[in-house]
Amino acid sequence: MMLKDYKEKIKEADLVLVGIGKELHANRLVDYSKEIKNEHYQKLLGQEDEKSLWMRTVYERQYLLSLDTVDYFKELEEVLSDKNYFVITSNDDGLIYHSGLKKECITAPCGNGDFFQCSKPCSEQLYPAKLGLDDLIAHYETTGEIETLECPKCGGQFIFNVRTEDTKSVYIEGAYLSSWANYTKWLQNTLNKKIFILELGEGFETPSLFRWPFEKIAFYNEKAVFVRVHKSLYQMGKELKGKGAAVQMDSREFIGL
Ligand SMILES: [Zn+2]
Repeated sequence: MMLKDYKEKIKEADLVLVGIGKELHANRLVDYSKEIKNEHYQKLLGQEDEKSLWMRTVYERQYLLSLDTVDYFKELEEVLSDKNYFVITSNDDGLIYHSGLKKECITAPCGNGDFFQCSKPCSEQLYPAKLGLDDLIAHYETTGEIETLECPKCGGQFIFNVRTEDTKSVYIEGAYLSSWANYTKWLQNTLNKKIFILELGEGFETPSLFRWPFEKIAFYNEKAVFVRVHKSLYQMGKELKGKGAAVQMDSREFIGL
């Protein structure tokens, strides 16, 4: 089964709830070595020391932030057009915001790479990342030196305002809270509605974000249909028998990539 095989089921639903996980992270969808043609970036490709890896990240993040619209999620856009939907992602790449999906119907609690923050952090302040990345690249391309950015308040190192295993204790949550509020409000109206839940490529990095909550919604909602897609972590508990379908497939393939 692939996404297009569920078209009719999705059409019949009042609401569609979509979760997007690591299988659809930019690192798996975007071939940076092809997309970023810049010669300075290309030279960094074979190098595995820490500084070169950081500089590559700088180019890749700048690439993601500069994207216009992307068509990776085209099939999803098609089945969701005219539907009342909400999308939550555990990814930190901002890629989904460059799709044709409605921005006001997306929440990305792990960040998008739009901002830097202090690594301590000494305050809740967020700093737009684009300018800093442009500076780092200009400096590298004129001097060959790889730099990092410092917090103007305390001199600590800047890190991306994204939630990862390494940053979860210092992650500043300010940037996504309004979209999160829209999400929780949307969820409150799902009770007793015909809801189609689609979980794409979510593993167990942050299961409390939507993997477990989706199971709960499907369990308590009599009219729910729940489709979970993952190459290896597709299993579904037997309490969801009759409502759920576990699709053992890489989510990239499932959405036609
Ligand atoms: Zn600081």
